[in-house]
Amino acid sequence: MTLISNNFDSSTKTGKFPCVSCHTECCKEYVIFVNAHDVHRLSKGLEMSPETFLEIYGAKDFSLGIKVKEGLIDLALKQQNSTCEFLEETKDVFRCTVNDFKPGVCKSYPFEMKNGKLTQMSSMMCPVDWDLLEFEKMMKIHLKKDESEWKFYDALVKDWNGNHGVKKSLSEFLKFMLDKVESSLTS
Ligand code: SF4
Ligand code: SF4
Repeated sequence: MTLISNNFDSSTKTGKFPCVSCHTECCKEYVIFVNAHDVHRLSKGLEMSPETFLEIYGAKDFSLGIKVKEGLIDLALKQQNSTCEFLEETKDVFRCTVNDFKPGVCKSYPFEMKNGKLTQMSSMMCPVDWDLLEFEKMMKIHLKKDESEWKFYDALVKDWNGNHGVKKSLSEFLKFMLDKVESSLTS
């Protein structure tokens, strides 16, 4: 099986790009939780309403779940047969169909920062090690941006829970969330 997951754009020059010959199927293993910017980019890129590609899960973190009429929830990408619905298979080759606007966690995987240094996650599923030096500059920028987008999302959820709570629906939350992202991008 070959997975063209493209955590990085095709201009990445490396003779050692693990996704090209991957047999570990990270896109099948994980539930992909998303933040406000992820949903905004996917909605714009797919020209779809968030409801069409989002699944709701019971909140993982009870102090930060979204309070809506539907319950205390978190947002993730829909799956089909326990696989991200944006993963496409053609003749045993797997491809991310939303590569240009996929969620931050997909772009980050399998990297993280530890004590200011780029490292691979100890639990990573990749079949071989990544060349950290080659990806350091790109991933440091991305991980910083991703962290700031999750902070923005956490603040937005606290704001919503404090002001609206269980009185309003998920659809109303999604509109509130996308409006907040739009305002942040234009300010
Ligand atoms: S497990 Fe690693 S190598 Fe395989 S597709 Fe995911 S990121 Fe790429
Ligand atoms: S959005 Fe793309 S990279 Fe992320 S899990 Fe789905 S198929 Fe994989």
